[in-house]
Amino acid sequence: MTIMSRAAEYVFQPAPIPTLPVRGSGRLFPVHRIYCVGRNYAEHAIEMGHDPNREPPFFFQKNPDTLVPDGGEFPYPDRTSDVHHELEMVVALGKGGKDIPEDRALDHVFGYAVGLDMTRRDLQAEMKKLGRPWEIGKAFEHSAPCSEIVPASEIGHPTSGEVRLEVNGEVRQKGDLNQLIWTVPEMISYLSGLFTLQPGDLIFSGTPAGVAAVKRGDLMHGRVEGVGELRVRVV
Ligand code: MN
Repeated sequence: MTIMSRAAEYVFQPAPIPTLPVRGSGRLFPVHRIYCVGRNYAEHAIEMGHDPNREPPFFFQKNPDTLVPDGGEFPYPDRTSDVHHELEMVVALGKGGKDIPEDRALDHVFGYAVGLDMTRRDLQAEMKKLGRPWEIGKAFEHSAPCSEIVPASEIGHPTSGEVRLEVNGEVRQKGDLNQLIWTVPEMISYLSGLFTLQPGDLIFSGTPAGVAAVKRGDLMHGRVEGVGELRVRVV
């Protein structure tokens, strides 16, 4: 018998696969990577001090194990005193690919969700200033709350609809999907030129204006019209 006949054993138990529930199915969507697009609404680009003209989209990643489910808790993170909410529509891919043409991009979408790109703004600003990567500002524990996924087979591919975040019942962020600088097909096509996309990838599509700080006890309630809702408490 060769050594291959023995099943390889892990040296420790591997972490579970991160998942999100799929609405109405009792089934789970296994998450592969989380991509986020930056500055995809003109008014948010302006509030962050950038030119809103149509420059190529840019991306960063969060780790799939930073997801927080709807109804979950967001523990106020360490090493920061300025944590911001960024409410975003999330695109969930059911099919991967490379160099996906725009006119085929929507065939790769399994569904949509409502997400929060939580950001340690003070650390992100420091990294921007130093020209360093954004991970410490963006990819920390619990930084990616996300709702259940709603299949495109039920809701289609929304291109307009209000994107709104309330904190403790007060409206903080408001925009419309029709204000996205880079549309969903455009961002999938562009991203697939840089990375090999996989089934299970999520794309956080950018946040409208109104990003602001949260504090412990706040209830964040996000809604993307035609997609769904997300409720997360800061603890
Ligand atoms: Mn964002």
